[in-house]
Amino acid sequence: MAHKIAVIPGDGIGPEIVAEACKVLDAAAAKFGFELEYTKLLMGGASIDVNGVPLTDETIAQAKASEAVLMGSIGGDANTSSWYKLEPQLRPEAGLLKIRKALNLFANLRPAYLYEELKAACPLRDEIIGEGFDMMIMRELTGGLYFGARETSIENGIRKAVDTLVYNEEEIRRIAVKGFEIARKRRGKVCSVDKANVLDSSRLWRAVVEEVAKDYPDVELSHMLVDNCAMQLVRDPAQFDVILTENMFGDILSDEASMVTGSIGMLSSASLNETKFGLYEPSHGSAPDIAEKGIANPIATILSAAMMLRYSLDLDEAANAIEAAVRQVLKEGYRTGDIMSEGCTRVGTVQMGDLIAARV
Ligand code: NAD
Repeated sequence: MAHKIAVIPGDGIGPEIVAEACKVLDAAAAKFGFELEYTKLLMGGASIDVNGVPLTDETIAQAKASEAVLMGSIGGDANTSSWYKLEPQLRPEAGLLKIRKALNLFANLRPAYLYEELKAACPLRDEIIGEGFDMMIMRELTGGLYFGARETSIENGIRKAVDTLVYNEEEIRRIAVKGFEIARKRRGKVCSVDKANVLDSSRLWRAVVEEVAKDYPDVELSHMLVDNCAMQLVRDPAQFDVILTENMFGDILSDEASMVTGSIGMLSSASLNETKFGLYEPSHGSAPDIAEKGIANPIATILSAAMMLRYSLDLDEAANAIEAAVRQVLKEGYRTGDIMSEGCTRVGTVQMGDLIAARV
């Protein structure tokens, strides 16, 4: 039976890069003998143009009825696009927050992987890079400081602001379980990052992660304080496999890890809920500055599609084949403009998709 995939091309370069990801998925389906059935959905600016809102309830229902969502990126140029003259809740990005909430996507996965061929883009020195690195930042997405009660007030003429960082043990347990499950599909190591020397929420985080670890004796657990982790990411990134952390720490550390790889057009991401369902998208935005020019790098979206096969459809072999095809194409010296370097062959979006699909 065909796997039902909702596809949201989105805005800017979104439709171009999603088309290439579907092309590569189709090549993997043909090779490994599975079927995918795509349902195209509108979100962001594309939905505003047709429906007047960035995300309709019907679109949410259709996304829910699928096994996974593959998304390009949404949004336009905030200075020139008419979408940004609308009220904030009607702008393209509101659709993104709404769909994450509606689908209960509490676990965000952002891999940071350094390709041998793209070492020149990495801002770290050669002796630090060593053999390269391959980590997964697992960030809690629906709790913590960004969702706690907040207030700004004036007391005795002095302005005051309060944000609260709240986690309950169930919120911690469900993301910890995901973290250990993901580690099992990788090198079997979880580093849980917190600030347990200061914060109560971190002490609870650490205690619950320890409890969950008992069910995963095959996975090695370590703990690290967030300030140390920020240093270790640039001192010795190869030590990490899965980094498991709360919302704000993950927000900051995942951007740091992305920068360490040096190539935004290469970075995939996934957001998962309690079931196998997930939303897969590149880490970058809709790049309106290069939309419809045929020069966008589709690799982040193609790698997001590979994650979809691995984490939502359990098609690990096909996911591995896509990742290997991406490595092969880079090894052969093909590059889109954003990752171009001397002596390589510059290709456009469609050609990059063709090359990867042919090597799956
Ligand atoms: P961006 O990531 O779209 O672009 C930053 C720079 O990187 C640009 O110069 C762009 O040309 C380049 N770039 C990005 N992806 C590329 C690719 N695949 N190939 C080659 N070059 C690439 O970030 P931005 O300019 O800050 O945001 C543009 C729009 O995207 C905004 O509307 C923003 O809200 C939206 N956005 C959406 C998402 C999402 O859909 N999840 C995420 C981030 C930003």
